[in-house]
Amino acid sequence: MTVLGIETSCDETAAAVVCGPANKRILSSTIRSQIDEHTEFGGVVPEIAARAHIEILDRIVAGAMHEAGCSWDDIDAVAATAGPGLIGGVIVGFMTAKAIAMAANKPLVGVNHLEGHALTARLTDDLAFPFLLLLVSGGHSQFLLVRGVGDYERLGTTIDDAIGEAFDKTAKLLGLPYPGGPHVEKMAAKGDVTRFRLPRPLLDRPGLDMSFAGLKTALRTQAKKLEPVDEQTICDLCAAFQRSVSDVLAARTKSALALFKDRHPDAEPAIVVAGGVAANQEIRRSLLAAADEAGARFVAPPLTLCTDNAAMIAWAGIERLQLGPVDDMALSPRPRWPLDAANAGVLGAGK
Ligand code: ATP
Ligand code: MG
Ligand code: FE
Repeated sequence: MTVLGIETSCDETAAAVVCGPANKRILSSTIRSQIDEHTEFGGVVPEIAARAHIEILDRIVAGAMHEAGCSWDDIDAVAATAGPGLIGGVIVGFMTAKAIAMAANKPLVGVNHLEGHALTARLTDDLAFPFLLLLVSGGHSQFLLVRGVGDYERLGTTIDDAIGEAFDKTAKLLGLPYPGGPHVEKMAAKGDVTRFRLPRPLLDRPGLDMSFAGLKTALRTQAKKLEPVDEQTICDLCAAFQRSVSDVLAARTKSALALFKDRHPDAEPAIVVAGGVAANQEIRRSLLAAADEAGARFVAPPLTLCTDNAAMIAWAGIERLQLGPVDDMALSPRPRWPLDAANAGVLGAGK
């Protein structure tokens, strides 16, 4: 089947056309980032995001359809993010999808954005259930046990800031531009990782929860002592920060894989990474090493599919439609929608 996907939950306006589940193919995937509109505010401004989605979504959808060489007749269903996310943007995307589905007389699938991230690796790789997912983005940092479509268990999460958020806040306090992750990574590459020692929060405690707010505070304290900080100090602080985050993620990944093997002794252990922070090369290397040590497969979808995109939403729509007919016309957009809540991601959830 061929599905049109729409994603508007944060600061990317995206549309894509994807075929599957057999002969999986991304026919088009158009993403328009709003970063330029938000940079001067040092973060995403919800009202600006919603307006920017309204202004451009029609053209993005038309562009994705054109690039895919598809007419409405070629589309079997429309899938759109129905939450969680910035509600103004979610409403714009989901209502647009409802209108298209109604006008073109196609089924509508309301996709949980996190489910989109969770299932992406099955679009890009040959990956069977169950698997372990580490979602690390601007809004989320969590380990999820993915047992099947709509069957998720959150094993651990950050108790404060998401990792991407911690990267962004750290960048801001060091005077680096938004979004901070790529800038911190670039500075860290020129830094001396041994000069500062930042904490590895929560690692002294069992379980899979994580904490990143303290890390940023510790970094601020170190930076304050040295004010005004020179460029090399910024690089050294970035290196220390990135190393702490990588260490915490690697340690928790090893524990998560141990838990996975315990729960599913017969399954091939696999850890999938998703979310914008997965772009970070040092974090990738640490996760790969942790997976290797545990004898597990490490799956990292291409970067363009790790960050927010609509191909993952179209794909999640395809996966949901394999379970049976879906008609989410009565579904309301939801600002919060935990993936492991009862029936999350399955028909009718959130009505
Ligand atoms: P969510 O998907 O949870 O709603 P989001 O849309 O903000 O949140 P993404 O678009 O997946 O998340 O990722 C953006 C985040 O990834 C930002 O916080 C950004 O700083 C971070 N990021 C991007 N590249 C890197 C990198 N190279 N290193 C570390 N972090 C990065
Ligand atoms: Mg984003
Ligand atoms: Fe996302």
